[in-house]
Amino acid sequence: MENFMHTSDEKLFLLCKQYGELALRYRNKFAGLLPEVYRRRLYKKKGFGSIFEFAAKLAGMSEEYVRRVLNLEKRFKEIPVLREILVSGEVSVSKMAKIASIATPENQEFLASQIKLLPRSALETLARDERHYKNVPGNTNLSQNSQNANRGVNGGGVEELKLNSEVTQKLLKLQQKGIDINELILEFLKKREIEIAQEKEKLANEAKTTDSRYIPVQVRNILTKEYGTKCSVEWCHHEATEIHHSQRFSFSRRHNPKYLAPFCEEHHAIAHSIDQQYVIYRAQRMRSEEISE
Ligand SMILES: [Zn+2]
Ligand SMILES: [Zn+2]
Repeated sequence: MENFMHTSDEKLFLLCKQYGELALRYRNKFAGLLPEVYRRRLYKKKGFGSIFEFAAKLAGMSEEYVRRVLNLEKRFKEIPVLREILVSGEVSVSKMAKIASIATPENQEFLASQIKLLPRSALETLARDERHYKNVPGNTNLSQNSQNANRGVNGGGVEELKLNSEVTQKLLKLQQKGIDINELILEFLKKREIEIAQEKEKLANEAKTTDSRYIPVQVRNILTKEYGTKCSVEWCHHEATEIHHSQRFSFSRRHNPKYLAPFCEEHHAIAHSIDQQYVIYRAQRMRSEEISE
């Protein structure tokens, strides 16, 4: 008889984590078997009323969960790489569900690698990005939105432009004098862009090689000027949590602002997993080149 009364907190917590991880892993494996059980009607042959009763009695699995697994398998019928991952139980059902809506025979290899590297929240962001990319070309809605010019879509919600009364009054006066205020603002925005680009160029030229991972304050400031406090992915409105080096710092050893971008946690994870995917791809290629030589 095991008795955990005298087990330390740390040890007890460690056991919880270990057993929890095993429980989740085997739950995925069990879920992966269900499509085949369903196809063979194995539950019937073994005296269960339904696949739901089968899963509930053998694994304590809810009906909703079973439906999810069977629907996913149906969804992946023409997407064999992802179907394979589902039935092998290699990845959790909830992660598979995150990318189901964007999966195609063309991107299945890419998604297969990402799903193994990324946490669930980042997969959700990846799916959102994918849908965004799809909507960008030929997005005719943009022109129809001109009557909503003072509104911006922000992570699903609509945000109003916050002009205070001073600015509103000043712009109104200019407009009354017959000055094109849109032109004026565009000019200002263009100027701002040029200014930022020039300042970045200057900091890029000044960036010396260093061993310090600390990003100099001038470089941080220019990034804040360009992106504000948010993630640098255009349509992402999450707070930035990390400044990412798109040129690996361990190679470049420079804090060149041209290769730095603030990212939210999810986009940062995606940036690294794509980077890692490239490393894996390169290693595989090198290996296959070695073999063919
Ligand atoms: Zn990074
Ligand atoms: Zn982001």
